[in-house]
Amino acid sequence: MEDRKTDDLFDVAVIGGGVVGCAVLRELSRYRLRPVLLEKCFDLGEGVSKGNSGVIHAGFNVRTGSLKARANIAGLKAIYDLAAGLHVPYRKTGKLVVAPDEEGRRHLEELKAQGDRNGTPGLEIVNAEAIRKFEPAVRGKWALYSPWTGIISPYEFTIALAESARRNGAEVRLGRNVTAAESKPDRFVLSTSSGPVSARWVINCAGLWADEVAGMAGSADFRVYPYKGEYLILDKAAGDILRMPIYPVPPRDESSLGIHLTPTMEGPVLLGPSGEYVDDKNDARSTRPVMDMLKAEAFRMVPALGRFPVIHAYTGLRPKIDGPGETGGPADFVVAESDRRPRWVNFGGIESPGLTAAPALAEMVVEIIGTKEALSSKDGFEPGLPDLPRFARLDDGARAARAAADPDWGEMVCRCEHVTRAEVRTAVRNPFGANSLDAIKRRTRCGMGRCQGGFCTPRIVEILQAEGLKPEDITKRGGLSRLVFGRIKP
Ligand SMILES: Cc1cc2nc3c(=O)[nH]c(=O)nc-3n(C[C@H](O)[C@H](O)[C@H](O)COP(=O)(O)OP(=O)(O)OC[C@H]3O[C@@H](n4cnc5c(N)ncnc54)[C@H](O)[C@@H]3O)c2cc1C
Repeated sequence: MEDRKTDDLFDVAVIGGGVVGCAVLRELSRYRLRPVLLEKCFDLGEGVSKGNSGVIHAGFNVRTGSLKARANIAGLKAIYDLAAGLHVPYRKTGKLVVAPDEEGRRHLEELKAQGDRNGTPGLEIVNAEAIRKFEPAVRGKWALYSPWTGIISPYEFTIALAESARRNGAEVRLGRNVTAAESKPDRFVLSTSSGPVSARWVINCAGLWADEVAGMAGSADFRVYPYKGEYLILDKAAGDILRMPIYPVPPRDESSLGIHLTPTMEGPVLLGPSGEYVDDKNDARSTRPVMDMLKAEAFRMVPALGRFPVIHAYTGLRPKIDGPGETGGPADFVVAESDRRPRWVNFGGIESPGLTAAPALAEMVVEIIGTKEALSSKDGFEPGLPDLPRFARLDDGARAARAAADPDWGEMVCRCEHVTRAEVRTAVRNPFGANSLDAIKRRTRCGMGRCQGGFCTPRIVEILQAEGLKPEDITKRGGLSRLVFGRIKP
């Protein structure tokens, strides 16, 4: 798609297609505005929003009175209904924070008191017997039980927010790296990798790069320090013995929530994350010593998980705005219009619980714009999305009926996750034209199972060709990540 001319003015340009930017775009699409989202990657959710635990936090880990606490609780109250309406997989699982001893119990009492003050519903301290009833495989003497905690697919949520925004008139432009911003009296002119984009308001939701993007407008009031978290993924059979996230008592310095175990919607269990400041915002390396440490810590709380194979490793980088060695605990979220550049709003330090808080953070943008101009709601805003059927979730009768009507529903592309050709075809035809292997993986789960794409990759390549892509244009994640470079035989 070609960019419009520079004199074609958007009301709002959102920089960054993570969960926050997509939630902001969707919120803006409720109003009589012309919003556009610019994302430098070739799909949505390629940043912090794909490398996290996918936990819907209940708000007891965050300091009372902070924006983190307010946005966490408001996000918690909104996210389950929102996910249901968008047909994003989620489960209100509950969660246990497990202590091995009396000192740990004292810390749990403090967390409970903080949660009660913040408005977290239903927190309870439970004993070893109750822990065993909730989760027979978990070892611990005391636990804080949080009934409102849940799990969600973070990238499916991010994509669904963007699809919902688009359905309501917002524009999404992928592969648009914003490289500079010029401030004019009535607008900002953003230079992007595919030409300029003008907008009256700019919302900087650039995650790890939010400091650099803020700097483009001369409004860099914070610096982002990447804080790496490595994860391991256990085979989906592990999901049979763990229903809810299991956390240790968090470290006193509140730098992280500790190495936890998190079930996912489809069964695989996540171990992690670690916590370490790194210099490089692109550092996605998994390392042997951390992998060994993750297993040791996690299996101490749930020894029975030790028998399941690790199928994959990944990392996430927290966009911290408190640097190494700084005291006083983690910094609060920054969501503010720049003093120096009116109509330029920065989001800074959106680390955990940013996924949970995203719907509430998005509403803050509307409030900020609303202080300067009257916003009127659009008629006919559609809050939901159609429910796309998934073969893996259908019963045998529904599967047979679909396969009879369309043979693509009878052709298995991913044997680990039970994904059919029909679902891959729908994913390839997504409204944003994201058609890399990773884009299809995030929309279908192809390649997320035990064989990690060994079986499905050649089949997806064949489907992409059938959909009109040349082999040399097929990529892992867009850009230069090509799978093939040419024929080796005539
Ligand atoms: C290890 C870890 C575990 C976490 N666990 C949880 C959890 O369980 N629950 C929870 O609630 N939260 C969790 N979080 C926090 C949550 O993941 C983040 O708060 C959230 O994903 C941040 O989203 P975002 O949209 O701000 O950033 P991102 O997802 O990083 O999005 C920013 C986007 O901006 C784009 N961008 C950057 N620069 C430019 C530019 N110049 N031009 C165009 N585009 C640009 C990037 O490509 C990126 O896609 C966790 C985070 C980490 C790292």
